[in-house]
Amino acid sequence: MELDTQDVEQRVSTGALPGWDAVEEHVAAAYERSRGATGGVVADYIPELAAADPDLFGVCVVETDGAVHAAGDAAVPFSIQSISKAFVYALVCDALGHEVVRDRIGVNNTGLAFNSVIAIELNDGHPMNPMVNAGAIATTALMPGGSPEAQWHVVQDGLSRFAGRPLELDEVVYASEAATNHRNRAIARLLESYGRVDVDPLAVVDVYTRQCALLVTAEDLAVMGATLADGGVNPVTGEQVVSQEVCRDTLAVLASTGLYERSGEWLFEIGLPGKSGVAGGIVTVAPGKGGIGVFSPRLDPAGNSVRGQRATAYLSRALGLNIFASAAHDAPPDGSTDGDRGGAR
Ligand code: GLU
Repeated sequence: MELDTQDVEQRVSTGALPGWDAVEEHVAAAYERSRGATGGVVADYIPELAAADPDLFGVCVVETDGAVHAAGDAAVPFSIQSISKAFVYALVCDALGHEVVRDRIGVNNTGLAFNSVIAIELNDGHPMNPMVNAGAIATTALMPGGSPEAQWHVVQDGLSRFAGRPLELDEVVYASEAATNHRNRAIARLLESYGRVDVDPLAVVDVYTRQCALLVTAEDLAVMGATLADGGVNPVTGEQVVSQEVCRDTLAVLASTGLYERSGEWLFEIGLPGKSGVAGGIVTVAPGKGGIGVFSPRLDPAGNSVRGQRATAYLSRALGLNIFASAAHDAPPDGSTDGDRGGAR
């Protein structure tokens, strides 16, 4: 697609969060209003994930000025799983650039399950979507480093810079998935057969499996999301982790692909880019405003945390985060519609 954007300065269009007290209050309310939701089931296709306490529930918002608002089990660690895909994608975009990643991986939703093999076949071996397993494995294969061990260190270090602290590997979850991830190995072999993975496919799956087993908390996810909301600068450490352009590109991909086959419903209800993982985490990004991290292990049939979606939907609405919401330009600033709409229009 030929677009006339190369020499046009990227201007930004974002608003502000309500004050500190209001955010604090709404984070507590999001937790209280969703803690009673006990629908969904804990993932068990990775045997160790089935051991999670289903009642855990944490909510955290981190603002782009670094303010942290947490409720519930926001400091309890869990494996990041698929949420790692968003941040590895950002790191690869930062290293290789917009065009290379768009052409090699793609930016479109496959509409099929996260571990679909048929999606690869239907698209002539093009992985299409970096937020499901085929595209994510192909993305990890592009990670700089030169060897699987070096790539793993670049991944661990990069995700730690997003979180603002060193992230550790959950050795038990890693071993559990490494012993059972036959399907991901098949996906990597299939990608190799189509020339989409230039390196040892099984070594790439091993790096990918490790990246999924990194331990994070809901607060970490909120900081990581806030970094993508803050033009790539971690608002807690002040470090520029990736470029402003990479944040924009990553969020565009998340908006259409972040919640598995429910991505359309998520955008319709919540109106923000997000990414979920099968351990029960969800990261959501409000550009210019902040990041939301939620964690609760019970999942809907697509693999998204039930309580996490509820809490995020509440926060999107209560904090005015939905990027598609607007009010008439002469409406009262609180967004209510009962003001005097006089004046020429
Ligand atoms: N490590 C998991 C897998 O590859 C991640 C899945 C997910 O969170 O969607 O199956």
